[in-house]
Amino acid sequence: MTVLILAEHDGQKLRTATRQAVSAAQAFGLPVTLLLFGADLRAVAEEAARVTGVSEVKRIEAPHLAHVLPEDVAPTLAELARDARALVAAHTPFAKNILPRVAALLDVAMLSDVVQIEACGRYVRPIYAGNLLATVENPEPVQLVTVRATAFAAAGDGGSADVESLAAPAPNAGLAEWKGESLAVSGRPDLASARVVVSGGRSLASADQFDALLGPLAGRLDAALGATRAAIDEGIAPNDWQVGQTGSVVAPELYIAIGVSGAVQHLAGMKDSKVIVAINRDPDAPIFQVADYGLVADLFDTVPKLSAALA
Ligand SMILES: Cc1cc2nc3c(=O)[nH]c(=O)nc-3n(C[C@H](O)[C@H](O)[C@H](O)COP(=O)(O)OP(=O)(O)OC[C@H]3O[C@@H](n4cnc5c(N)ncnc54)[C@H](O)[C@@H]3O)c2cc1C
Repeated sequence: MTVLILAEHDGQKLRTATRQAVSAAQAFGLPVTLLLFGADLRAVAEEAARVTGVSEVKRIEAPHLAHVLPEDVAPTLAELARDARALVAAHTPFAKNILPRVAALLDVAMLSDVVQIEACGRYVRPIYAGNLLATVENPEPVQLVTVRATAFAAAGDGGSADVESLAAPAPNAGLAEWKGESLAVSGRPDLASARVVVSGGRSLASADQFDALLGPLAGRLDAALGATRAAIDEGIAPNDWQVGQTGSVVAPELYIAIGVSGAVQHLAGMKDSKVIVAINRDPDAPIFQVADYGLVADLFDTVPKLSAALA
């Protein structure tokens, strides 16, 4: 029996979250097989084979897999998972789109956003917007699990796994078709794996002010930008910057929350950050309860001074 990991990559490199899923999967005490879907997997397969803790890499490539559609890959994953003990992936939009379909095809329950694997079938996961941790048991014959990547260290290099090519599934064009994407190009680090995150709330009032105030600060600190859901709902920041229960969960070395109230749904996405700094003009804002350093101040006055001091 093996543990399969659905790998996520950009065609060139594995996402850090996949290396974190590899670390998580060691708790099963079984050989780990990394599954790669894509169009040209040469570079990614070489990297995957080097990841410590991976025993085998299965490479499944075809031109139509350049953009992995859940409709295309879920049946193949279900077939592979039938003979495995577990199918694990990082809890990212990529896997959240695919694993529930695999669970449905296998007619098993899946567990999402697991922060600790105590044993095969016994997991710890947050509930109530991260306010409680529940230990849950899953008796299914195949364990389908997504793990909160930030709860696990990223597996490094040092392995030398075998790489095997498998036949690719046919395009399932009747169900779904890739039409295109529009990607925001940014020189900033990826939010999920950035060492520093600067986040802003609704108080920044407009997208222009958000960029003008937080952009320079993020630039000085080589930080990713994050935002609250309220800021996103009001069009102040783009959707993929949302940090929180229904956004990204991040745990950077430094998280700077600017004009962020600290609602539980936001805290669920950032409270595991190593050092939290909050700037808010309301001394009773809940964000100060989790902040290591807090400054009660008007952000429009303070943030430009902070950016200037870091220049
Ligand atoms: C099911 C569900 C899921 C949710 N998921 C998420 C999620 O994933 N992420 C998320 O963030 N939220 C989420 N929310 C929303 C969440 O409950 C809050 O509404 C949201 O986080 C508030 O955002 P905010 O702090 O920007 O806005 P507000 O609550 O309006 O707070 C603004 C803060 O800015 C401060 N402020 C105002 N002006 C200034 C100034 N000039 N200088 C300094 N400080 C100032 C105020 O004192 C206040 O604390 C969710 C809600 C629900 C119901």
